[in-house]
Amino acid sequence: SVIVFGSINLDLVATASHLPTSGETLLGKNFFQVPGGKGANQAVALARLGIPTQMVGRVGGKGFGAELLDNLQTAGVQTENIFRDESVSSGVAIIIVDDVGQNQIVVVPGANGEVNQADVERLLPLLPTAKALLLQLEIPLGAVVAAAKAGRNANITVILDPAPAQSDLPAELYPLVDIITPNEVEAGQLVGFKVDSQESATKAAIVFLQRGVKSAIVKLGAKGVVCATAEETFFVPAFPVNVVDTVAAGDAFNGGLAAALYTGMSLHQAVVWGAAAGALAATKPGAQTSLPDKLTFEAFLKD
Ligand code: ADP
Repeated sequence: SVIVFGSINLDLVATASHLPTSGETLLGKNFFQVPGGKGANQAVALARLGIPTQMVGRVGGKGFGAELLDNLQTAGVQTENIFRDESVSSGVAIIIVDDVGQNQIVVVPGANGEVNQADVERLLPLLPTAKALLLQLEIPLGAVVAAAKAGRNANITVILDPAPAQSDLPAELYPLVDIITPNEVEAGQLVGFKVDSQESATKAAIVFLQRGVKSAIVKLGAKGVVCATAEETFFVPAFPVNVVDTVAAGDAFNGGLAAALYTGMSLHQAVVWGAAAGALAATKPGAQTSLPDKLTFEAFLKD
């Protein structure tokens, strides 16, 4: 299987004519409840592609816990190792979007913020039969480092999506990571210079290699993907698609990448799969709603 250790969220989205100012009560237009969280998105991306996927993390008691578990199960993700913490709320994002697409977002980590060593213990028995472990940065960093250590000890491929962007990561984390997958903003913050082209992305990838990762994949959106290892550096162009919104394109990329590695493909082919999944996600609105299924994905890769 492939294991995702990370965040599970519910996005509560209200649309309104404009964003409210302090103290203003505004009549909204529409309301949506959309499952998200980078961890859950990546797990759903994998499951939709037909990969046996285990999610390890936490949801809250009251406040959407059951719905979030149910959503993952419906997508085909195994949820036995998600702990339901009755003492806190689930992770939620309260999002207001106005007519011109601007937004205001408050994220409450809730149960995601409680992920700790006990969850890493639940991860351990799953590792011997797993191919890869996917990590992101929406749970406490200590838990991410402990999980990466466990993955490394079990000799499986550890993939870190350093999102949301941070300006610093513990030095000990990099050598535990097989593949790091930042986008332009995340790469830029971590290396300390602007990353916005193939050239600067290649420089950033080399910095990540020097810090101890085995492979660095820098996602440049519509400008393609740069990948560097000790042996090779290569570029994979973005697939030309009609873009609707790129929400969760990065999560789709990581799902496609890990799916290919699970299937035994080369790193180069895995980057192509990642780019294809990311491109397909960009053609549809929303986060988990935009993640491609196996049939769509295979048809897209064929032509
Ligand atoms: P993130 O979603 O993390 O910000 P990107 O925007 O780089 O990351 O998107 C992740 C991947 O999704 C890209 O590397 C690319 O493969 C694909 N993708 C994103 N935007 C587009 C686009 N406009 N056209 C084609 N592919 C895209």
